[in-house]
Amino acid sequence: MRPHIIVNVAMSADGKLSTRERRQVKISGIQDFNRVDRLKAGSDAVMVGIGTVLADDPSLTVKAEECRNNRIKRGADEHPIRIVVDSRARISPDAAIFRKGTGKRVIAVSRKADPKKLEHLKKLATVIIAGDEEVDLPQLMEELGTMGIQRIMVEGGGTLIAGLIAADLVDEIYSYIGNIIIGGKDAPTLTDGEGFLHESQFCRLTLLEARKIETGMLLHWSVDHPQ
Ligand code: NAP
Repeated sequence: MRPHIIVNVAMSADGKLSTRERRQVKISGIQDFNRVDRLKAGSDAVMVGIGTVLADDPSLTVKAEECRNNRIKRGADEHPIRIVVDSRARISPDAAIFRKGTGKRVIAVSRKADPKKLEHLKKLATVIIAGDEEVDLPQLMEELGTMGIQRIMVEGGGTLIAGLIAADLVDEIYSYIGNIIIGGKDAPTLTDGEGFLHESQFCRLTLLEARKIETGMLLHWSVDHPQ
């Protein structure tokens, strides 16, 4: 069975995840940061696309000691499994996800990845090969399910989220909307990719909660899966 997938992003009031140069910006405050840390701590794995690793070099670790201790108490690793979707194995061995924190890492590649690069990567992470060109996301999720991963938090970016939504693999979305306008037609949004052309293809959502946090608003959606 595939894992339950929760997307979490912070976006500006005009729906941008970062600047058009793909430079990370501060969109939310400490209260929302702590919510995201707890969501991460409650997940078996946290996933990002290679675009996010190259732009932001996140460690994807759980920051609060209390959250890490709670994970250990329930028999889990200190940090969730960190997964990068990276067809061509472009990730650097010096990336923060390898340098920071303990625990498992998974790099999902396609058959396009250079086997020599994969040899090096296998020393740092579990490598899953799925798909010929880009990573076959349904196949990847099935494989992650067989590894016992039941709940994945996806932290972006917009291209990976678009792929997951197009494959109907997303179950919940948390989007924090901050009180800034970033602008720029080329700035990343919650869902980039090609977009849907027909109404019948649109991803439909049910609003579960809308809550003011600090100077912005948190929206929590569930995804209505087509029958
Ligand atoms: P991304 O979504 O992180 O990664 C996309 C890449 O994943 C693709 O270009 C592709 O690269 C790889 N990929 C492999 N298989 C795929 C598939 N089946 N479907 C989709 N992608 C696949 O990159 P991004 O859209 O450029 O987003 C990065 C930006 O988002 C940065 O500016 C970052 O700051 C921002 N961001 C913001 C937040 C927030 O909450 N505000 C969170 C995360 C990221 P290959 O072809 O090389 O494999």
